[in-house]
Amino acid sequence: MAYHSIMSDVHHVYKKCTVGNNIEKDNLRSGTGGKRLCKTCQEIRDGKRSR
Ligand SMILES: [Zn+2]
Repeated sequence: MAYHSIMSDVHHVYKKCTVGNNIEKDNLRSGTGGKRLCKTCQEIRDGKRSR
């Protein structure tokens, strides 16, 4: 479920994440990549943003 961009130092867990949505397919990889969770995904998880 987790995914990340090789161009970024964060990973995402929600498909709705606006940051994750902007990842170009060429840079998209599955898994966390050992990176920290993206702030927007954290906010979705914490209920600060609608899913
Ligand atoms: Zn995210």
